[in-house]
Amino acid sequence: MLAMIAAAFWEPSFQAKPGARAARRLPRADHSPATLSGQATGRRRHPFSIRRTLLWSGESSAAPILPEPDVTQAQAVDGDYDYIIVGAGSAGCLLANRLSADAGKRVLILEAGGRDNWIWFHIPVGYLFAIGNPRSDWCFKTEPEAGLNGRSLNYPRGKVIGGSSAINAMIYMRGQAADYDHWRQLGLVGWGWDDVLPFFKRHENHFLGESHAHAVGGEWHIDAPRVRWDLLDAFRAAAAQAGIKSIADFNCGDNEGCCAFHVNQKRGRRVSAARAFLKPVLHRPNLRLETGCLVEGVMFDGRRAVGVRWRQEGGPGNGKDAMRRSARCSGEVVLAAGSIGSTQILLLSGIGPADHLAEHGIGVLIDRPGVGANLQDHLQLRLIYKVEGVATLNARYHSPLGLPRMLAEYALFRRGPLTMAPSQLGLFTRSDGDQARANLQYHVQPLSLDRFGEPLHKFPAFTASVCNLRPTSRGAVRLRSREAADPPVIRPNYLATEDDRRIAASSIRLTRRIVAQPALAPFHPDEYLPGPAVRDDDEQGLIKAAGDVGTTIFHPVGTAKMGLPSDPMTVVDDRLRVVGVERLRVIDASVMPTTTSGNTTAPTMMIAEKGAALLRADAKAFAS
Ligand SMILES: Cc1cc2nc3c(=O)[nH]c(=O)nc-3n(C[C@H](O)[C@H](O)[C@H](O)COP(=O)(O)OP(=O)(O)OC[C@H]3O[C@@H](n4cnc5c(N)ncnc54)[C@H](O)[C@@H]3O)c2cc1C
Repeated sequence: MLAMIAAAFWEPSFQAKPGARAARRLPRADHSPATLSGQATGRRRHPFSIRRTLLWSGESSAAPILPEPDVTQAQAVDGDYDYIIVGAGSAGCLLANRLSADAGKRVLILEAGGRDNWIWFHIPVGYLFAIGNPRSDWCFKTEPEAGLNGRSLNYPRGKVIGGSSAINAMIYMRGQAADYDHWRQLGLVGWGWDDVLPFFKRHENHFLGESHAHAVGGEWHIDAPRVRWDLLDAFRAAAAQAGIKSIADFNCGDNEGCCAFHVNQKRGRRVSAARAFLKPVLHRPNLRLETGCLVEGVMFDGRRAVGVRWRQEGGPGNGKDAMRRSARCSGEVVLAAGSIGSTQILLLSGIGPADHLAEHGIGVLIDRPGVGANLQDHLQLRLIYKVEGVATLNARYHSPLGLPRMLAEYALFRRGPLTMAPSQLGLFTRSDGDQARANLQYHVQPLSLDRFGEPLHKFPAFTASVCNLRPTSRGAVRLRSREAADPPVIRPNYLATEDDRRIAASSIRLTRRIVAQPALAPFHPDEYLPGPAVRDDDEQGLIKAAGDVGTTIFHPVGTAKMGLPSDPMTVVDDRLRVVGVERLRVIDASVMPTTTSGNTTAPTMMIAEKGAALLRADAKAFAS
């Protein structure tokens, strides 16, 4: 059956041919042993299982930050590039597309992960296999969190071309107009809702067609879900009975209400940023993709970024060892390695809080206390309800014919549960009367499990996950060591503020109120987690329960905050340039000064679209 599906999936765009064509035109391109080892053969092994005795080449950086390199081990990638993009993730793929559209600019894009030649990157339900798998996930962990009663969380981030968009839940969500108007109020010129709407639309191909809010013809497909569940229809009716109206579209500026999530899919297949933006242009002779590259730092001449150095899997003549490589850049270096990766690279390059850099023996290029600070994430509280007399994925999956039926439905019609984003029904509402706009988001799922990566429960159940959209708690990302291969220290600091704890307690109460409505009564919902022993009138008990059932909904942002240069916590200005140095930008989720009210891919793609326009405009101004 899996073979049937694989056959249905085998399309030219899944093959590495475009890259191979690029390889013929550019010397030493992406078909090196480094890029074709491990990932391509489907073997599970850590791409950076290397001999640690190797030393790096810093090329000709005038301000070397790490110890003197052993240049004999170094291999420079040919020539000068106009742009070097670090990270072929959600933002990086879009940037590569837009920047290489100018045939006169040479663009190099470096990715730590491999190619997406694995079927589970393309079948939507594949996130169940990709999350927690070193083939596709960095497999980070947070430190133990006081707000989570000492628990440490798995903290997935995509490690493959497409980045997190290759393993995420595919929900298309822009947030609220007020999020961006708030950015403009912070003094960030050009980042209000009216300013950014054209950048959302520039790459959009929306199934609802062209309107004031949406566009068609772009690379980023947004589709309606291809599966429905009576249980979720009943939840929507219950929400209406609790006073939460049904709406048709979350993405017009105000997302308050209840609706099925729209998804980044095309005819039942995931649309990742690699599929949408990178693979279709890999034939361009001026674009070069290198995979299996762990970027270790930016090279500087004084305070001007002049290149990037990395460790690449697979040396010449063998597929096992890593080698140090570097490339020079006469234009701009762009970090698009995400909220964790870009932070780590800035710190390793000597840009960050001086005391922290000194702790790790890293020379300070510029003291910017904001690097790695201001970490914001959405904490989802996963309330689980056992049900009776209605279909759930748990029951379908565990029934003897359930799985074959689902596979057949997918292979024949590209419909059914294999097309499922984990959450199909969304709901935005207010936790209390003091809120000026929706501050809670629900992800409702016809399934339950202990955590992603673990099996579905054997009993029929649904999950109503609720998160506070604008938490006031702030965490941090810090280096564990000066080794790029060492995972950084991640402390989201969930539920650290009184406000966040109060909203967590209110959101559990509200969930119970919705589930108690008549529309769900025929299915006898029975609270499994946190369970009826935690009473609504016990505020402290509810907060403790929130710490027990809370987990990330995978939205870290803010670690390279965009702000006014006068603010010491600012990392990039409103043109996304790193303050204090030249020719270095950060363009990814980490630049958001405050998180958006919803999932974070669409805002990241908008940032990349706008960032590409800023880069191109500045290059033109510089040339004239
Ligand atoms: C499991 C999961 C589910 C999610 N669900 C949704 C959802 O349904 N809807 C939604 O809107 N958002 C969702 N998100 C969030 C969303 O995917 C991210 O906010 C968004 O993709 C971030 O984009 P980015 O470009 O900043 O980073 P990424 O897409 O993570 O890209 C960063 C890239 O840089 C590479 N990289 C990192 N460090 C280095 C280095 N040192 N050297 C070289 N390369 C490096 C990485 O491998 C990666 O490819 C989810 C995220 C996850 C992980």
